[in-house]
Amino acid sequence: MGKLLIHPLLQEIAGIFTRRGKQVFLVGGAVRDLLRGRQAQDWDLATDALPQEVMALFPRVIPTGIKHGTVTVHFKGRYLEVTTYRTESGYHDGRRPDQVTYASRIEEDLSRRDFTMNAIALPLPTGPLVDPFNGIADIRARRIRCVGNPQERFAEDGLRPVRALRFASQMGFEVEKATLEAIPQALKTTEKVSPERIRDELDKILASPQPSRAFLLMEKTGLLELLLPELAACRNIEQKGFHRFDVLDHSLLACDAAAREKAPGLVRAAALLHDIGKPLSRSLDAHGVWTFYQHEQVSARLSRDLLIRFRYPNAVIDGIVHLIREHMFHYEENWSDGAVRRFIIRVGEEKLNNLYLLRRADAYATSAQELPRDFLLPLITRVDAVLAKSRALSLRDLPVSGKDLLGIGIKPGPPMGRILSALLEAVVEDPALNTRETLLTIAGNLKERYG
Ligand code: ATP
Ligand code: MG
Repeated sequence: MGKLLIHPLLQEIAGIFTRRGKQVFLVGGAVRDLLRGRQAQDWDLATDALPQEVMALFPRVIPTGIKHGTVTVHFKGRYLEVTTYRTESGYHDGRRPDQVTYASRIEEDLSRRDFTMNAIALPLPTGPLVDPFNGIADIRARRIRCVGNPQERFAEDGLRPVRALRFASQMGFEVEKATLEAIPQALKTTEKVSPERIRDELDKILASPQPSRAFLLMEKTGLLELLLPELAACRNIEQKGFHRFDVLDHSLLACDAAAREKAPGLVRAAALLHDIGKPLSRSLDAHGVWTFYQHEQVSARLSRDLLIRFRYPNAVIDGIVHLIREHMFHYEENWSDGAVRRFIIRVGEEKLNNLYLLRRADAYATSAQELPRDFLLPLITRVDAVLAKSRALSLRDLPVSGKDLLGIGIKPGPPMGRILSALLEAVVEDPALNTRETLLTIAGNLKERYG
């Protein structure tokens, strides 16, 4: 292994510790990533200095997790987590240690960490790597292995099994046998983990290059049934027609396809969940073929419940559920311009691109065949052409306002609202009507009916 390149800013920070006779190590993901030849995004430091001492060393320190010995140092535009060496004991709820005890040696601190690849310390400003659990060898072998006894480590913290699978899909590593085999016995502990912590792992899985890796391992170990039972229920739900896969494999392929296209997390989540309503909406038609009539509505409903369970923010939930609800559009060339405009309004102009990405992922995943180059092109071209012709898509685009309608004697409140909607509908159908004069005439006529 060549010499590791240490960022000059880290050297500078290290000097601040060592001049006061304190030890400091780079630890965790940053060391793991350096050993894999990548620059780390965040820096975690471990030190023998107590949190109060760290706070005295730097002018800008936030006591983010001071109970657990962690403070955040803000230094030259960077935020670093600095943790005093510690051991942990008494994980009574399987979530967080009850007590934190400071340790005097870095080795003790490393022994509380989850995986060998995450339990390597790099002394700053310089010195040989501290690797008491052979993490370097495991990184070379691309292997995820618990520090110590996997059953005990998972019983302490039920998030660790999920982290193991998340790292597997992020880095393409294997989970070592004993570590993997300990997961089914830890399900009861994982069940107690807070939904927010699981959600953060799910997001990292979705952001990884091949999310199916984690989800298939989740299935194998029972985590899928525990955390995402709606998805687990899609196994062996067979589909006919163009489909080559059952609903679970189809969903995982769609999610991977979205990841390959570097689609945003929202689209990847929608790809994963877009068909979870199929097991519930399945029925046999007169020819003995499975149909999934209106499954997108059921998928949308189940997805909302699932995402609420993991405490996703409402805006995120709405975004994902909307894509799922709209994923079954069927464009044909004989759509009128009005139909195209209604499609744009229903989806939302700024969400069209995500819906196209979802459809590409979905289509790829029916047969795992590369899509034709012009896939969706007729619709996209048509949408662009229609938008170029007229951008009258919302009330804001109309040249008349509520005030103008007041002027011709239409009362505010529900009647006015209905007339404005009717004007918009008329313009969406025929943009030539979108002049002030014409709309006021139409409004005048409608006054009798709605007013
Ligand atoms: P990344 O930041 O890329 O997701 P990471 O390894 O830095 O990966 P963090 O969650 O930032 O992960 O945690 C930093 C370090 O803290 C880990 O490398 C590991 O040593 C330790 N750690 C984090 N979570 C746990 C846990 N649940 N149990 C034991 N050790 C943990
Ligand atoms: Mg990290």
